[in-house]
Amino acid sequence: MGEIPESHPRRSSLLARQKLVDAAAEGLLADSAMIAHGRGEAFDYLLGEQTSDSARSAIREASARLLTAERPVISVNGNTVVLAGEDLIRVAAVVGCPIEVNLYYRTPERIARLLTRLAEQRASVAGGPAPDGWSEDWAKAVSSVALLGDGADGSIEGLEGARAICCTNGIGSADIVLVPLEDGDRCEALVEMGKQVVVIDLNPLSRTSRMATVTIVDEVTRAATALVDEVVSGHAAQGDWDNRAALSEALDIIAGASAGE
Ligand code: ATP
Ligand code: MG
Repeated sequence: MGEIPESHPRRSSLLARQKLVDAAAEGLLADSAMIAHGRGEAFDYLLGEQTSDSARSAIREASARLLTAERPVISVNGNTVVLAGEDLIRVAAVVGCPIEVNLYYRTPERIARLLTRLAEQRASVAGGPAPDGWSEDWAKAVSSVALLGDGADGSIEGLEGARAICCTNGIGSADIVLVPLEDGDRCEALVEMGKQVVVIDLNPLSRTSRMATVTIVDEVTRAATALVDEVVSGHAAQGDWDNRAALSEALDIIAGASAGE
């Protein structure tokens, strides 16, 4: 793809697409990854392609819960690694939790390739600047983020086949899972196992959004960047979290979308 001018109104969308096109060519994504992304793009259009106040509250709630959990884990798939891998490594470094590559359409090749990509991202993040407000040894915190997914030895109860596979020392023993772009069935199964599930999903009507403990209705790249700021500032939870209300607020934004003048 040629250069996209800085001023192009669809610049970030075009860049995200190109990242996915490149990643697909490198064998990092399932065949359906682009379809899933396209469906997300449609919702993002309707949401105005920005983080709403409601999504911001969900990000804050997610942050508070991750910081107070005993065994938090971040579960990532191909699209998430490609679009938000570096910021999620920053989140993991601050929270002090592992990242597990966990795929709906699991193949050993893609697990290995995504782990390699994450290791490269981790090295790059470790060598880069610490987030504003972080005062400890950044390179050390980032380097200690464990990358799981290889040799998975556990399973998510209630699911069948390869999509049930997980790591015992990751999702298997987690009390809270941050899992952007999850599938509805898997989200439900994790909740049934007694875990808190935080998802990032642009579709407020998806089963994932409705099953999750906390749903961040936002684009994964934007949400991950905002989550870095939140975990560094470490605000406390706001009390009772009403996830239905958060989903209704997103639907209100969509319903109020207008073609303007
Ligand atoms: P569910 O299984 O939860 O009912 P679904 O089957 O309709 O959902 P999937 O195909 O599992 O949807 O996943 C695609 C969804 O992922 C999209 O509808 C969108 O909401 C979400 N999504 C895709 N790309 C992004 C992104 N970049 N940021 C946030 N969410 C995204
Ligand atoms: Mg689905």
